[in-house]
This record gives sequence, structure tokens and C-alpha cells, in this order.
Amino acid sequence: MPEPDHNPGPPQAHVVAYQHPELAGVLLCHEHGESWAGLVPLTAGDLPHGGFCGWGTSDSHVCGRALATKKPRQ
Ligand SMILES: [Zn+2]
Repeated sequence: MPEPDHNPGPPQAHVVAYQHPELAGVLLCHEHGESWAGLVPLTAGDLPHGGFCGWGTSDSHVCGRALATKKPRQ
């Protein structure tokens, strides 16, 4: 019997960002969204124009990572 494939379950590989369920427009990158329960995973199709990670600390540092959906072709 071959070993079963490691099925990742939800299509996490296609998640490009996470959206806060209550704060409209607040997006988080993978690094900051993965450890935050309750966020809504977004795929490239959900973010046609991309966005920026809005994760911030109490001392006003903001992640600001670009949540690009497509790599530039130039
Ligand atoms: Zn971030």
C-alpha cells in the first residue's frame, strides 16, 4: 500500500492574504495572518488589485508588506 498523500486540506497554497472579518479593508500578510484565528483567507481572485498588510504594533510600526496577486512581468 502506498502512503497516502499529504493532503493540505483547504487550499492554503492559493491564499495570498487574510482579511479581518470585522474591520473592512484590513488585510494581513501570510506571516501575520496565519497565527490570527478567525481571519478570512483571500485568494488572488479576491484581491484583483492587491493590497498591503495592515498589521501593526502598539508603537505604530506597520508591516506594510505588499500583497501582490501577480508577479510583475518586467
Ligand atoms: Zn504582515
